[in-house]
Amino acid sequence: MALITCKNVTIKYDGQTAVENISFTVNEGEYLCIVGENGSGKSTLVKGLLGLKKPVSGKIAYYGVSQNEIGYLPQQTTAQKDFPASVSEVVLSGCLSRGVVFPFYNKKDRKRAEDNMARLEISHIQKKCYRELSGGQQQRVLLARALCATEKLLLLDEPVAGLDPVITAELYTLIDDLNKSGITIIMVSHDIHSAMQYGDRILHMAMRSAFFGTKKDYLNTQIGRRMMGGADGV
Ligand code: ADP
Ligand code: MG
Repeated sequence: MALITCKNVTIKYDGQTAVENISFTVNEGEYLCIVGENGSGKSTLVKGLLGLKKPVSGKIAYYGVSQNEIGYLPQQTTAQKDFPASVSEVVLSGCLSRGVVFPFYNKKDRKRAEDNMARLEISHIQKKCYRELSGGQQQRVLLARALCATEKLLLLDEPVAGLDPVITAELYTLIDDLNKSGITIIMVSHDIHSAMQYGDRILHMAMRSAFFGTKKDYLNTQIGRRMMGGADGV
């Protein structure tokens, strides 16, 4: 069953095209990897899926999941890394609908935050300040936060950027386990090899051409072979 379909979606900033004519489907339980060079519109597409940026043409349709039920892990900026709040506060804020200014949490929210901290094995650091954590710990906190918003769909924008290989592998395993537990994953990544290892489907975004389909079909395209290190198309 499809959770989200995108049909011929184009998104612009002040008339400047950032995402051009993208079409794909995310089915329930799948793991979709979105790859492509810097500036190819991956984060803009993510904002489109979240309803933070409206397409100028095309259609994004949701089935059995609303925009508010998407757990979102944003691409990290230096400012976010310096966020002056405790781990538990950051995780708990995932229980809020996006755009809420004054946070009110009930018992259920607090329980959900506690459960997700336990699930990601960060309960022991919940009193620590977020900005004092290592990069890998910060991403775990943001994953726990994203899980507070959803039991259905996680949208992860470059979750392993800047992390060392050991921590990267740990996080990939964690995300894979979440997928196996039934959560649909959309992950933006620079790392095509991990995308091929863990993803079911690939969306390759590029200025002039794009690909969406299975891994097997991707390997039969020129760009797919080139991305995997083959000599084709170089
Ligand atoms: P990616 O995530 O693949 O690196 P982005 O979606 O961030 O790509 O960017 C796609 C294009 O849109 C780039 O040319 C970028 O400069 C432009 N862009 C991104 N965000 C904005 C913005 N807030 N305002 C104007 N242009 C933007
Ligand atoms: Mg980006």
